[in-house]
Amino acid sequence: MRKKVIIGLLIILVILIIALLIPKNLELKGDSEVVLNLNEKYIEEGTNFKSEVTGTVDTSKVGEYTLVYKKGSQEVTRTVYVVDPSSLVVGLYGSQNTLVREGDPYIESGAFGIDKENGPVTEYKINGDVDTQTPGKYEVTYTFNVGKLKKTVTRTVQVVAKDEFEANTDGVPVMMYHYVYTKDNRPKTVNSNYILDTDFRKQLDYLKENNYYFPSFDELRAYVDGKIALPKNSAIITFDDGQAYFMQNGIPIMNEYKIPATAFIIGTKGAGKNLYPYATEYVSFETHSYDMHKAGGYIGHGGIISAMKKDEIVKDLQKGIKLVGSSNAFAFPFGDITEDGKKAVEEAGIDVAFSTVFGKVNVGDDYRTLKRVRVNGGIKLEDYIDNL
Ligand SMILES: [Zn+2]
Repeated sequence: MRKKVIIGLLIILVILIIALLIPKNLELKGDSEVVLNLNEKYIEEGTNFKSEVTGTVDTSKVGEYTLVYKKGSQEVTRTVYVVDPSSLVVGLYGSQNTLVREGDPYIESGAFGIDKENGPVTEYKINGDVDTQTPGKYEVTYTFNVGKLKKTVTRTVQVVAKDEFEANTDGVPVMMYHYVYTKDNRPKTVNSNYILDTDFRKQLDYLKENNYYFPSFDELRAYVDGKIALPKNSAIITFDDGQAYFMQNGIPIMNEYKIPATAFIIGTKGAGKNLYPYATEYVSFETHSYDMHKAGGYIGHGGIISAMKKDEIVKDLQKGIKLVGSSNAFAFPFGDITEDGKKAVEEAGIDVAFSTVFGKVNVGDDYRTLKRVRVNGGIKLEDYIDNL
C-alpha cells in the first residue's frame, strides 16, 4: 500500500514539474521592437512555440513593419523599423579636436543635425564632462534622434597645460570665400569671387601643414569677449551665398580635408531654396539673411537692409535662422551695416555677425560687426599666407 502511495505521489510530482516547465503563453523570442538600417538583413527569431507568422519586412524600404505571430487563439506582435542612416547628417560646430587652455572655461560649441528631407534637428543630448583645471583628453558626445533613427557625433576636448599653450595675440582671420570652380565645372565668366579648386587646395594644404586650429563661432565670441584664449594659428573658413558652385565643388573638398567650414546661406536664392540635400559633415550652415540679399537701399553697396526698420530685419533674420537651424553667425549681405541692423542682430540672439571690411577679429571687437579676410580667386599663395 505504502509503495503505491509513494509511486502515486511521485507521478503527481512529475506531472506538476512538467506542467510548470511547459510555458502556457505565446511569447516572442528577441525584442518586440527591432530597428534595422536600410538593406540590413532581418533575422527572424520567432516565438517560444511554433507559430504562424503574418506580415513581411522589406529592408530595402524605409518604414514600419508589423509581424503577427499566431498559435491557436493566442497572438503576439513585433514591430520592425527600417531606417536610412544617410537621411540624417550630423556634424560638429568647430574643430573635432577642440583645444582649451588649462584654466579657461570650456565653451560648448554644440553640434548640428540636418534631416535631408525635413531640415534642421536642433534637439540633441550632450554627454561628457570636461575638467579644464586638469590637462588631458576628454570626450563629449552628441546624440540625435529622429524617429527611430539615432546618430552620434563625438568631440575630443584637449585641455592643454598653460605653459604649453601658445596663445593667439594678433587676431583671428575669418576667411571669406564665395564660389569654387573646377576645370570641368566653371562659369562663363570667372570674377574674383571664384577660386579654382587647385588653388583652394594649396591654401588648405598650407593650413593643414601649419597645424591651424578652426574655432567655432561660440569660441570666437568668447575670444572677442576676452573669456578664452585661442591657439596661435587659428582661422575660420566661410563661404558666402550658398551658391551652386560652392555646394557642388567646395563641399567635397572640405569633407576630403576634414576642415570645418561655414556656408552663409541666402534663404531665397540658389541652394537656399533646396538646401537640405546638401547637408554634409564638415560644412555647417548659417544665415546670410532670408531675403535681404538684394538691392533697394541707399548705403554701401545699396543692399535693401538700409531701407528696412529694425523689426523687419529681426523678422528676416529669424526666418533665416529657422532655415539653417542656427543663430551662431550672420553675414550682413554685401557687408552693408546699419544701426538697426546691429540692434536686430542682438535681438535675434546671434552670437557673431560679419561685415566684409578687410581685417582680422581681435579681442574687444564689436561682435556684431566683425571683420573678415576676403580671399580673391587669383590670389598668390604667398599673399594668402601674408593675410593669415
Ligand atoms: Zn553675399
